[in-house]
Amino acid sequence: MSELTHKATRAAFGLAIDQTIKHVNKDRQKGLLEIVNLSERFLGDDYAPETYENIRKMIQDPDNKWMHYVNRALDEVHPNVIKMSALNLGFEAAFRGTKVIREMRKVHDCSIPWLILMDPTSACNLHCTGCWAAEYGHKLNLTYEDLDRIITQGKELGVYFYMYTGGEPLVRKKDIIRICEKHNDCAFHAFTNGTLVDEEFCADMQRVGNLSLSISLEGFEEVNDLRRGDGVFDKVMDAMDLLKASGQIFGTSICYTSKNIETVTSDEFLDMIIEKGCRFTWYFHYMPVGNNAVPALLPTKEQREYMYHRVREIRSSTGGKEIFAMDFQNDGEFVGGCIAGGRNYCHINANGDVEPCVFIHYSGANIKEVSLLEALKQPLFMAYRDGQPFNKNHLRPCPMLENPELLMDMVAKTGAKSTDLESPESVGHLCGKCREYADQWQDTADELWSHTPVKKRRYENYKGWKPGD
Ligand code: SF4
Repeated sequence: MSELTHKATRAAFGLAIDQTIKHVNKDRQKGLLEIVNLSERFLGDDYAPETYENIRKMIQDPDNKWMHYVNRALDEVHPNVIKMSALNLGFEAAFRGTKVIREMRKVHDCSIPWLILMDPTSACNLHCTGCWAAEYGHKLNLTYEDLDRIITQGKELGVYFYMYTGGEPLVRKKDIIRICEKHNDCAFHAFTNGTLVDEEFCADMQRVGNLSLSISLEGFEEVNDLRRGDGVFDKVMDAMDLLKASGQIFGTSICYTSKNIETVTSDEFLDMIIEKGCRFTWYFHYMPVGNNAVPALLPTKEQREYMYHRVREIRSSTGGKEIFAMDFQNDGEFVGGCIAGGRNYCHINANGDVEPCVFIHYSGANIKEVSLLEALKQPLFMAYRDGQPFNKNHLRPCPMLENPELLMDMVAKTGAKSTDLESPESVGHLCGKCREYADQWQDTADELWSHTPVKKRRYENYKGWKPGD
């Protein structure tokens, strides 16, 4: 797409979004339908015609749960946040960026991710039990210039979506806002403990419009504060009140374990976070990463099966809850299994090590020494590309958790080194903790997968592999 066409198309989307935001009822519906029409024209046959028809039907049905969700968001979220999110995450990242990325994958013959997760700092203002951030302290940082360089190089490859974790990324909130200003065509998202959110930061977020947040929670006050420290739950509730009042898009980031899985998926807990203004909730399966990890926190196979059904129930189009729930480990069918190693995402830690995934602490490239493209071509990422999908059953997607022999093999073959500077963990030690879990989950996962309709089993951007192989 030429720069002129790009600008004109972005402007057309902007106009339709303005129309959607400004008006209620009939005109809002017209604006949303115009966005669908533009998307269909722009994306061509990337999606089946019935996909667009189903969305149009949903928009025209005022009783539809997800239309109720959209209308509530349009009423409550600040217009600049809606517009910048739709333009940057929708138009630039999902539509235009995806097309560029597909081209770049062919040109460079390597994986190019759709999003990059970065740790601006290893520093954290809290000292949660079991968190690796506490071990590194304030030692490691990606400078403003590092972040800017990664994003500038990423945009050349079509990457327009960047996430932050840490450490506590909001320790660097001034730099994060500066980056939002400089790269105002990108979408940014930070995983945060929420305790550094204040009115000034909310005003900055409203002004730039291209930053959203996921706030960590472990459950209700007693359980949350046992791990995170006294008073943290109340601070998170206050942060959510400020974010809601200033019209931000935010949700929760929840690590589910054998101990908290029922609480964090209960009606009571979900009703509380919806009331607080959360639009989405990420669920992350506990991973036994690090020499001090506690394998007893791994969910049992019964708990993981419960999670599979419960998340689908929460987000079903009838019933459930008005919040978008995602389960990083059980939603493989929608993204074609493991997305790491640059296939759809990768992680850059505060030391600059470019890792396949936030949970896989091995690497052979550092972004302070090589370009983003060189890092994406490192042997470990190429081994990921050759090995994906690691399992034809997308409910067993991970080369560590569900197929631990595969990560051992890739790390040994590529010579990738542990990136844990405080307490390097051998890949044998890490994968050894997953073996029993993988064996126990296999039968349940295979049974569940056998009931997944073939058309929902996405098999995309794999090198030389088709379903049925
Ligand atoms: S490496 Fe494992 S945890 Fe990371 S994206 Fe792949 S399947 Fe998920």
